[in-house]
Amino acid sequence: VFVVFEGGDGVGKSTQTALLADWARALGREVLVTLEPGGSPIGEVLRDLVLNPAWGDVSPRAEALMYAADKAQHVYEVIRPALDRGALVISDRYVDSLLAYQGAGRDLDPDRVEQIARWATGDLLPDLTVVLDLDPAQGLATIEEKDRLEDAGHDVHLRARQAFLALAARDPEHYLVLPARLPVAELADRIRARLASLLSG
Ligand code: C5P
Repeated sequence: VFVVFEGGDGVGKSTQTALLADWARALGREVLVTLEPGGSPIGEVLRDLVLNPAWGDVSPRAEALMYAADKAQHVYEVIRPALDRGALVISDRYVDSLLAYQGAGRDLDPDRVEQIARWATGDLLPDLTVVLDLDPAQGLATIEEKDRLEDAGHDVHLRARQAFLALAARDPEHYLVLPARLPVAELADRIRARLASLLSG
């Protein structure tokens, strides 16, 4: 089973990822927690290339391709093998981040970005994507040291938020949208409730 957390920066994705993993492990499941960009050794290098301001002005197309390369390696080296051995895989960001930040946030053709994402991942889609929804101004306010993209214009983050919601609306069966401002424990409960049926089915 493959579960992904999506949403803006500072919405609590990594907190919920960790809580969900603890819960599933306590049920006796093998759990693999991972993230994008950076879930593999090559991914870590790509993460630095896209996020480190030292590299200067990165072209939006190059940026999209580096995120796509990160995904391709992540699926190949980490996600697929774990799913094949029956693990629950929980990823902090996946394809929707590429569609939201590069497809909707940047001035790139969203359909092409989606094609690239599908090609890069070999069409592997999550069983469930949890979108933690929050006004980007509030999420970003919680982040102290901003990386290159957290520092991107407010517009990019607003467009990305709308894109996450639109992707969820397109396929409600595979999405759970929750207001990120709910208490941490309540969010965790709601996510578990939705996942319980997936894990038993
Ligand atoms: O979630 P995390 O903090 O690891 O994301 C790193 C940064 O990369 C964030 O600023 C996020 O907004 C940005 N990002 C992006 N495009 C992606 C994935 C992440 O701009 N496809």
